[in-house]
Amino acid sequence: MTNVLVITDHIAGEVTKPTLEVLTIAAGFGDPIAVAFGAGAELTATRLAVYGATKNLTVTDEAVDSALVAPKVEAVAQLIEQTGAALVLAPATLELNEVAGRLAVRINAGLITNAVGVTGGEGSVSTEQSVFAGDWTVTASVGGQPAVVTVKPNSVAAQAAPADGTVEAAQVTISEGAKRARITKSEPKAASGRPELTEARIVVSGGNGTKGDFSAVEGLADVLGAAVGASRVAVDSGWYPHSYQVGQTGKTVSPQLYIAAGISGAIQHRAGMQTSKNIVVINSDEEAPIFAIADLGIVGDLHEVLPQATDKVKQIKG
Ligand SMILES: Cc1cc2nc3c(=O)[nH]c(=O)nc-3n(C[C@H](O)[C@H](O)[C@H](O)COP(=O)(O)OP(=O)(O)OC[C@H]3O[C@@H](n4cnc5c(N)ncnc54)[C@H](O)[C@@H]3O)c2cc1C
Repeated sequence: MTNVLVITDHIAGEVTKPTLEVLTIAAGFGDPIAVAFGAGAELTATRLAVYGATKNLTVTDEAVDSALVAPKVEAVAQLIEQTGAALVLAPATLELNEVAGRLAVRINAGLITNAVGVTGGEGSVSTEQSVFAGDWTVTASVGGQPAVVTVKPNSVAAQAAPADGTVEAAQVTISEGAKRARITKSEPKAASGRPELTEARIVVSGGNGTKGDFSAVEGLADVLGAAVGASRVAVDSGWYPHSYQVGQTGKTVSPQLYIAAGISGAIQHRAGMQTSKNIVVINSDEEAPIFAIADLGIVGDLHEVLPQATDKVKQIKG
């Protein structure tokens, strides 16, 4: 049994799905101890316990919210010592990849980021990483302890594994030096009312074929309760924000249903969505490469097909 520390990600106390996935991996190694940072950290305990966290350590020093990542790195380094953790896992978010990198340097640990699989047992950790747009799978292992690994969203399905989940305020000291790089202003992303892209069960994505008009894509997304995604051409053209990009240099999604409208299916796009359970393609060119991975393909103009699909769903829903 290995002591595993899981660095969690939450938004105002609401635990993200990638965190629950990482807990599921952690439960395969031993009893996961979760660390939650900042305002709302204590609200995460119940949800984390449902997915296997035996203990929830909260770090609520104001520095973890008001400074950049250094206070989190210091806190986790101390918690590794206190818990004897042999493995530190975190979802591979932009911020937690940075925390993981700095942590590994600080404690002289082996680091692997953006893993899509983590296996091993006492004294050894192996990972898989999907690279070159999913063309290659690299297996790597971390020598020595502890190992620090971040895991890409949707790498595993989160599975409930109820645990006690006691909550404790972590006993850590944040140095003055760690507080020096302060956040002077931050603005929350305007709420779209749609589910988060990486967590949505259905994603409707638009590409170059939209010619910049995403209204038909958004219309179908809204009747389906889906998230909206976009190809890189669409975001580079300024038609949709970069945070909605799906693909190698965007987000990885693996929903039950992925609808690609006006997207050709470049390898870099497919890298971010090809593990979707069902793929529906709407494209006016029957030769478009994306049809090769479609479960259902419709050759047609998305500005005609999507509104028809939207009306049909509305009709079925009554
Ligand atoms: C290093 C690197 C990283 C990259 N990362 C990403 C990434 O993360 N995500 C990503 O998406 N791309 C990425 N790309 C870009 C990628 O190579 C493609 O250029 C991009 O995915 C193409 O976007 P698209 O399919 O929207 O556009 P296009 O390739 O131009 O395809 C548009 C499609 O729309 C169809 N179409 C046109 N009009 C209509 C209509 N009215 N109705 C229906 N269909 C229509 C066309 O037939 C065509 O198939 C990356 C490239 C590189 C080099």
